[in-house]
Amino acid sequence: MSLALVRAARRPPGTERPPPGSPRARTVWLLDLDNTLHDALPSIMPRINRAMTDYVMRTVGLDEVAASALRVQYWRRYGATLLGMVRHHGVDPHAFLRETHPFPDLHRLVRRDVRLAHLLRRLPGRKIVVTNAPAAYAGGVIAALGIGPLLDGMIAIEQMHSAGVLHPKPSRPMLAKLLARLRLPASRCVLVEDTVENLRAARHCGVRTVLVSGIAWGGRPAWQRPRRGQRGIDVHVRSVVQLARTPLAGRTHAH
Ligand SMILES: [Mg+2]
Repeated sequence: MSLALVRAARRPPGTERPPPGSPRARTVWLLDLDNTLHDALPSIMPRINRAMTDYVMRTVGLDEVAASALRVQYWRRYGATLLGMVRHHGVDPHAFLRETHPFPDLHRLVRRDVRLAHLLRRLPGRKIVVTNAPAAYAGGVIAALGIGPLLDGMIAIEQMHSAGVLHPKPSRPMLAKLLARLRLPASRCVLVEDTVENLRAARHCGVRTVLVSGIAWGGRPAWQRPRRGQRGIDVHVRSVVQLARTPLAGRTHAH
């Protein structure tokens, strides 16, 4: 599904947007995609990692072990392997994103969870997916999850740029710019994420934060695992489907 399709998707009857100024209109949920709205660990992440390692091997001329280590090094240092490849090896970011997300069969790999659609339907406020993934892949995941009509928009990595340079999460200037472009005061927004660094950056910008830890806990290396009481986290849930029960969702949710 393309960005345009996601934006044009109509809400189902009975879930129309509340009038401006009503309490339900206040919150804007900025929803991460991978390992927040769905579990990308079993089959999607291994394929992305494999494709990225292959790309690094071809581009930099390394063997598999060295290429994999460099991929992880850039991921840790910049928050995304892509940024290291652009900065140090001059790769075309669009070619990199295209070649490292080879998913003609996404609909078979993404598991649809009816509880997610139910959550999005009853969660008061606007919902915008904000992901460091490329738009073609993210649109495909959203379509496979069957939640396109329940979203108000999607911001993919291609839209996180300044002066022609990509600045994905956790870039604070990017987030501030994004909120200005969407005409959203930070105090109305809530970022829902599995990556602590991204939450911390958002909290610094005045955005409230929800850590979704259930998927990431098992899949991330120890240095990236969320811990209780970490700075920058307002609310901690195991699964995104618990979001409507948090204080940030207010008291207006239906049953
Ligand atoms: Mg994520």
